[in-house]
Amino acid sequence: GEPIILSEKCIGCVKCVKVCPAEALEMFFTPEELKILEELARQQEAAGAGGAAEEVDEEEAALARMLAAYRGVWVFIEQTEGEPAKVSWELLGVGGELARSLGTELCAVVIGRDVEHLCRESFAYGATKAYLLDQEVFLHYRTEPYLEACCYLIGKYKPEIILMGATGMGRDLAGAVATRVKTGLTADCTGLDVDDKRNLKQTRPAFGGNIMATIMCDRFRPQMATVRPHVMKMPERIEGATGEIVREQCAINEADILTKVLEIIRDKKGDHVDLAGAEFIVSGGRGMMAPENFSILKELADELGGVVGASRSAVDAGWMPHERQVGQTGKTVRPKIYIACGISGAIQHLVGMQDSDVVIAINRDKDAPIFQVATYGIVGDLFQIVPAITQRIRELKN
Ligand code: FAD
Repeated sequence: GEPIILSEKCIGCVKCVKVCPAEALEMFFTPEELKILEELARQQEAAGAGGAAEEVDEEEAALARMLAAYRGVWVFIEQTEGEPAKVSWELLGVGGELARSLGTELCAVVIGRDVEHLCRESFAYGATKAYLLDQEVFLHYRTEPYLEACCYLIGKYKPEIILMGATGMGRDLAGAVATRVKTGLTADCTGLDVDDKRNLKQTRPAFGGNIMATIMCDRFRPQMATVRPHVMKMPERIEGATGEIVREQCAINEADILTKVLEIIRDKKGDHVDLAGAEFIVSGGRGMMAPENFSILKELADELGGVVGASRSAVDAGWMPHERQVGQTGKTVRPKIYIACGISGAIQHLVGMQDSDVVIAINRDKDAPIFQVATYGIVGDLFQIVPAITQRIRELKN
């Protein structure tokens, strides 16, 4: 509809025109108004508008000093009972690239109990320094002590970038830390880079995946981002690489922490599959037509030693469980081979699988967008093609 202008409040400062992200506003003045504005500008200049400019300069200088005080790229090393989450190593990979571009150090943040081995493991994946907080109170992850620990380290060592995995733990901790230290956080980034002013360019899908937005946090430090598992490449592991361990001690008392871990009950679900970590994935979409038809995908996946995935349409139809969904609201996967069967290739699906080493698409519609990301495309009926591929693999094995 028509914009409503409150004429008694509008002073014609044009700020709204400048801040409108869609550049949809324009402001017009009558010749009389223009005359008044020019006269006002002249008066301001005569009254020493230079003073205001100096104030702005001083503000900018203070900002520059603050930004310069923050150096180094940090990666939070997520662990459960000493067992690291692989996403942490993936983050050290991308973190290393950022640190090289910035000419700064790559540091691991290791918090837990009996977790020093993770510092050494971090060095193997590219960190040159590890901040270690090894205390009984950090045995099990709880927001409060981990938040205190992170904020203590940030306050003392001032990193310019902090990366965490977009896992249950990472999402919880990153949000809490960003809120406490009053900085920005970009969740679920799919790309990270830096500009010539040391700002982190954080790219992620926005507006339902229809556009890729690059988000910056140029007036606050540290700059914080989370990245889902398997989005970044696993870096090469360099056996025997060394670095400096900075041992720290955080003054937190167990008595002051409200949350207690009484017992850990492990999920005993037998059919758990590691879709995100699979090397071969055969996925089915709405083109599978019925749940029982997924058996032909299972047969092919079994021959390859892989697992079956699904598009959201197949999950929404109740043909496959949600933990098998690939895409923006499902898992991000990066297998050696991804076979998409009866999947059209909507952007929300593509963002979850387009970094697979090889994509094979089977679809009867030659114009399906999935073919745009496919290494090999097969136009035809999946009910003929999939069993034929399985058959051929069996023949080759015998
Ligand atoms: P369709 O688009 O209906 O495609 C079916 C394809 O099967 C067609 O291309 C057709 O040609 C082909 N086909 C049919 N029969 C055969 C046959 N016999 N042989 C060969 N080919 C055949 N989607 C996801 O997958 N993952 C997500 O995480 C996800 N998140 C979303 C988040 C949001 C906010 C929104 C708005 C949408 C999301 N979607 C997601 C949905 C997405 O937009 C698409 O609707 C969905 O991916 C389509 O699934 P599909 O390709 O299986 O179905």
